[in-house]
Amino acid sequence: MSRRSALQALPVEFTGSYPDPAVRLDPPLPEIAFVGRSNVGKSSLLNVLVGRPGLARVSGTPGKTALVNVFRLPTFYLIDLPGYGFARASKHARSGYRRLLRGYLDGRTTLAGVVWLLDIRHPPSADDVEMQELLAASGRPTLVVLTKADKLGRAARTARARELADALGLEPDEPQVVSSVSGDGIADLGDSILAAAGGEETA
Ligand code: GDP
Repeated sequence: MSRRSALQALPVEFTGSYPDPAVRLDPPLPEIAFVGRSNVGKSSLLNVLVGRPGLARVSGTPGKTALVNVFRLPTFYLIDLPGYGFARASKHARSGYRRLLRGYLDGRTTLAGVVWLLDIRHPPSADDVEMQELLAASGRPTLVVLTKADKLGRAARTARARELADALGLEPDEPQVVSSVSGDGIADLGDSILAAAGGEETA
């Protein structure tokens, strides 16, 4: 049985949706931002982490919204950044997204950490590599999370996690492996997020 996420014990509320991540949040608190390709499982993961099934919308049609969704916990915010890499996105939309992300990563003084999601089944895409470069250039603490682990058996999961770590130039055990369906890895990720946000890590 999976342990529950410590975040699930905390009250959470939807603060709002904003087109501009430079939005001023009141009160200013540390922020943990979630980013990943459209359809990587970001909304599902947010919902499972906080234990509120309907909080972030899970969509069958990826990449439609480019809004920043903000969720408030007592001592920090979870920031759901727009998904990237939508195949049909125009050149204009792509460069707009890059500008948005770079501005947020470089300028946001309240940003405490980034949770970067990759689908465990796929090698990093060109968009993922670009995101990694943006993250590295920003110097922001980043938790690398591999999603949809339930789609693979145990052995394949470990092997894929190592391959992806290698492809990304990370230590073999650095990526955290999660499934929003089985709950695997969710509690550990919740602890990492609390620690990154400056809160208590619950053992
Ligand atoms: P987002 O676009 O990154 O917010 O992704 P969503 O959370 O909307 O999920 C995209 C699709 O992947 C949906 O059909 C989800 O049901 C599915 N999905 C998300 N997380 C998981 C997971 O951990 N396991 C499995 N099997 N499917 C998932």
